[in-house]
Amino acid sequence: MKEKILIYNSLTREKKIFKPLIEGYVGMYVCGPTVYGDPHLGHARPSITFDVVFRYFKHCGYKVRYVRNITDAGHLENDTEEGENKITKKARLEQLEPMEVVQLYTLSYHRAMNLLNCEPPSIEPRATGHIIEQIEMIKKILKNGFAYEKNGSVYLDVNKYNQHYPYGILSGRNIEDTLEGTRELDRQTEKKSPVDFAIWKKAAKEHIMKWVSPWGEGFPGWHMECSAMGEKYLGKTFDIHGGGMDLMFPHHEAEITQSHASNNCNPVNYWMHNNMITVDGKKMGKSLGNFINLEEFFTGKHEKLSKAYSAMTIRFFILQAHYRSTLDFGNDALQAAEKGFNKLMEAIRTLNELEAGQESSFDVEALERKCYNAINDDFNTPILLANLFEGVKIINSVKDGNVQLNNIDLKKMKSIFQIFAVNILGLKLVNNHEENNLTNEVMDLILQLRKNAKKNQDFNTADLIRNELDKKGIQIKDSRDGSSWSIKK
Ligand code: ZN
Repeated sequence: MKEKILIYNSLTREKKIFKPLIEGYVGMYVCGPTVYGDPHLGHARPSITFDVVFRYFKHCGYKVRYVRNITDAGHLENDTEEGENKITKKARLEQLEPMEVVQLYTLSYHRAMNLLNCEPPSIEPRATGHIIEQIEMIKKILKNGFAYEKNGSVYLDVNKYNQHYPYGILSGRNIEDTLEGTRELDRQTEKKSPVDFAIWKKAAKEHIMKWVSPWGEGFPGWHMECSAMGEKYLGKTFDIHGGGMDLMFPHHEAEITQSHASNNCNPVNYWMHNNMITVDGKKMGKSLGNFINLEEFFTGKHEKLSKAYSAMTIRFFILQAHYRSTLDFGNDALQAAEKGFNKLMEAIRTLNELEAGQESSFDVEALERKCYNAINDDFNTPILLANLFEGVKIINSVKDGNVQLNNIDLKKMKSIFQIFAVNILGLKLVNNHEENNLTNEVMDLILQLRKNAKKNQDFNTADLIRNELDKKGIQIKDSRDGSSWSIKK
């Protein structure tokens, strides 16, 4: 706990040294995915941002409880749309049980997180597993007089709330601003005021995901789940709440409102928000045709991509920008990131083979301090990477015999790269050697199968194997000694 970590707090709009509620412990809640579709870039940035935060706190000796929820109850597209939520809709279209949709996309989210080398959170609670907690919280808000029931739905009374607590402290949007943003349609609902938001929604007859409550069959408003699960696992007030900037309003603002309305306290000490990702300078959106999911990045199968990019390239690319800056995805930038990542990994491989010299002509300790200063400054990963690349230069100079590092400094250099590149930034040394070995073994097996097919006069199979491999860019050469393969140039 020697390190002083500066964190920019979106609530107070200033950078301050982090002080945990309880010395040595960090409670951190991050809004997780809504599992009704494939994980995409919008999922990768918060996961990687808060993975680095999680890893760094642990490195500093904190015991961290990292909670990241799964939104599996679906949530309304907007408050005016009655009935169907996103998961129900998807389930109906695909003729699946809603929980099958949830399972399908939870698994694909976990697969992507694993490839991106994001550590699993300490707890990954599901909204549907916490309906009771949400109902209890709604009851408390009603009892405290900050909500009202109307036709089986419960709404948070924002005007009433605003008489006791300032509404809009996180987003800076007051009631007048919010009113301006509401559409004509919203003014004709059962709400007392268009700024009120649903904390429990009555379910339409055809709605599949619904639960029994004191107000009839329905489902909780989306904002409730994070309030209820945050309180259950981290307490009424906890250290850090993270998520994308797009969640600041209304989601996080609603969480703050719900906590005050039920517990009369501020739920979070530090609000951290990562900025958004754009594609070719434009906001990502399904209708804009620039919506690229992670699987498409890994396979290169999207018209916007000129090639496939590894999960580590994506991770490196995201870390090249500070989490509070916008980040624009494009092929040129991704290819530059790929080069940078490979250069860094190559240097780590070289570092492990370097021999110590008699003396040192580089201040390794100063480099280590600079790395700590970067990460301590609100998790400034681009500066940290720049410092590591200063180390890369030295490593290459030592290899070329232009610089020497003595035994102690060489060890320190190795520890810097292990700690910052591997442990904290989570950049995985992809072992090409192992990958190549596996490819060789699989190709030997395929060639053996083809040989057997030929021996059995099954030339159709033999040709099929050759042609299909050819399509994938692998060339087979037959000779008297057998067959060999090569990747087509
Ligand atoms: Zn949330």
